[in-house]
Amino acid sequence: MRIRSNAVWGIDLQSTVSRPIIFEGTGLHKGLCSKLVVLPANIGSGICFKRIDVKAGNKFIPAVLDNVVNSELCTRLENSDGVSVSTIEHLMAALTGCGINNALLEIDGPEVPILDGSALLFVKEILKTGIKLQQQSLKAIRVLRTVEFKHGSAWAKFEPSTNPKMSFSIEFSDEAIGTQSKTLDMSNGSFVRELCDSRTFCRYSEVEAMRSKGLALGGSYENAVVVDGKNVLSPGGFRHFDEPVRHKMLDALGDIALAGYPIIGHYVGYRAGHGITHGLLRNLFADAGNFEIISCDKEIVENLPGIGVTLSEVCKVA
Ligand SMILES: [Zn+2]
Repeated sequence: MRIRSNAVWGIDLQSTVSRPIIFEGTGLHKGLCSKLVVLPANIGSGICFKRIDVKAGNKFIPAVLDNVVNSELCTRLENSDGVSVSTIEHLMAALTGCGINNALLEIDGPEVPILDGSALLFVKEILKTGIKLQQQSLKAIRVLRTVEFKHGSAWAKFEPSTNPKMSFSIEFSDEAIGTQSKTLDMSNGSFVRELCDSRTFCRYSEVEAMRSKGLALGGSYENAVVVDGKNVLSPGGFRHFDEPVRHKMLDALGDIALAGYPIIGHYVGYRAGHGITHGLLRNLFADAGNFEIISCDKEIVENLPGIGVTLSEVCKVA
């Protein structure tokens, strides 16, 4: 096994996890406990879920845009047999942020464990376990022209860029959040250093409404930052002064990973949720002139999000 770093040969190769990794916990929205096992997978197989609790029909749900179905407040995938898995975005961000291209994700329930509400534990365990290089070169999607998607006051766009880059802005009336903006070059482990520990958040006034719709049933102060006006109700407050916008960037990276290949472009989001990013990806792929699929050389791969990252770089939770 060769651990990926900027110094080793084979930097332009695909990768998977070196050994199975187990996570267990409650799902944020349905409140059910599930066990997730991240397993090594073959070259070119991509990221694919397998619902091992489902007895009949197709249990496999590839983590690709075509399998995204409408869902509120999370990303849900469903295959043609109606077998689904929800709240995949933090796990997807962790995999892509650590440079994992191929993995089989066995799960015995309908929703990925929320853990602490961020991607921190996924990232730590993946990097602790190790990344295995595979003897096949990597492909990436290069954005060739600006593409947008809008819904109401929210929007997102991709612009051409030499490196994967992300900018995000949010505006909330709650003073605890207010207006926040952040721009980050996503190359070489920025996700692991700056975004992976930022937790999901919500407003206290929305909790009851979510629960009446059967959402956030597994939510708690341990797995979400709850704000009310100028107060942060979750003990310990924010991990970063701008944790909410960082979490929105984490979500966007997880949703962008559904493209199947890393995207080389500048993602810009304004108040964008999961549906906006999915719509943006659909618009990107709607016209073959918007993008090209390239085989990555060493120079390109060195600038992808998960390359060369190590456990020592993981953000330190305050
Ligand atoms: Zn999230």
